[in-house]
Amino acid sequence: MLSSYWGFTSFRPGQAEIIESVVGGTDTLALLPTGGGKSLCFQVPGLLRGGVTLVLSPLISLMHDQVLGLAGRGIAAFAMTGRVDAGLLSNVRSRMSSSNSFFLYLAPERLNTRQFRWLIQGQRVGLIVVDEAHCISSWGHDFRPAYRTIQQLRENYGAPFCALTATATRRVERDIVKNLALRSPRVFRYSFDRPNIHFSVRQVVDARGEVLSWLDRERGPAIIYDSSREGVEIWAEKLRRAGISSAAYHGGLNAGFKDHVQRRWMRKKVRVMVATNAFGMGIDRPDVRLVLHVGLPDSLESYYQEAGRAGRDGRPAHAVLLVSPEARKARMALLRAGSFRQRIRANRLVRPILRYAEREMCRRWGVLGYFGENIRVPCGNCDVCGRLKREAPHH
Ligand code: ADP
Ligand code: MG
Repeated sequence: MLSSYWGFTSFRPGQAEIIESVVGGTDTLALLPTGGGKSLCFQVPGLLRGGVTLVLSPLISLMHDQVLGLAGRGIAAFAMTGRVDAGLLSNVRSRMSSSNSFFLYLAPERLNTRQFRWLIQGQRVGLIVVDEAHCISSWGHDFRPAYRTIQQLRENYGAPFCALTATATRRVERDIVKNLALRSPRVFRYSFDRPNIHFSVRQVVDARGEVLSWLDRERGPAIIYDSSREGVEIWAEKLRRAGISSAAYHGGLNAGFKDHVQRRWMRKKVRVMVATNAFGMGIDRPDVRLVLHVGLPDSLESYYQEAGRAGRDGRPAHAVLLVSPEARKARMALLRAGSFRQRIRANRLVRPILRYAEREMCRRWGVLGYFGENIRVPCGNCDVCGRLKREAPHH
């Protein structure tokens, strides 16, 4: 099945065990790094179990990518997004009834709609998939309250659950298990390490010079993240003026334009994507050589997920975090602003990223330790370990 539908010759670490567990009908939670191949972990079982596989997913672009991928492999699938008219809906329902297996993608906010209930009525649901499952936890980033309604599906359909995420501290993991009401789940946790990514942090005053010199060093495709929409526009313009092909992407652009920009970048028409955190989830471009943050991310989880978009092809890549005095000040202000609850939350999320940025410790150790993973230091592939090596006496 792997070679005939997917053209892959072997499984990646974890895939075989996860697939076996899910096919067997056991509730399963899979924690695999970004690009680790989580989709396969539910697509193969969905096909094997047959019937309708419901896939709950937070983002439209993500769903469309997956439906296209499945369709290209001759597998029936549909993403319920935007306005769906009655004609299309009944067409989908009849395809569903006549297919041995069918993948239905939707955001959890849609579960409570008449359209969804009509569509799914009388169908056999073989598997319920919760992608980007960390969205269920208010301990993590990207919290989506509607994820909490997913567990109700169990009563109606009795199908096993398969939850997947690339971002899981132990706390988020416990939250997923609890809020999905998983039953004696098997939890598969694989190393989140991405050995080919070189991590570094730079304290900067002249961000422009720093960015340009990185783009000069790393000639390949790049993503630059900034925390504000205005910042993104300004950076994209700066780069264009410096003769570097770039585009801006953020939540303030209309959907059609965002699609257009994203496609241009995916098709290698643009080298540098300058974006807010609205960009990237589910983007599958393997040859990104540099992910550079000019603004401090909201949390260490977000940072690692965004940085993880570098080097999915396994070749050397860089993740660089620039810390300016202003960015630091803005984050520190967050720790003191807002209600008591907001401050607690800010502390929980912001402290770890500040610590990551400011401590002279192996970066990989810092971030993986935060996810509860122990690694051997020096890692040999971050700025701190690099300095250690240079300072070590020669034999
Ligand atoms: P994730 O959801 O974990 O971030 P994806 O499921 O999107 O990762 O997969 C990332 C990429 O890896 C995709 O291009 C996919 O086709 C590829 N991939 C997944 N499994 C394998 C495999 N066993 N062999 C080769 N490529 C794979
Ligand atoms: Mg995925």
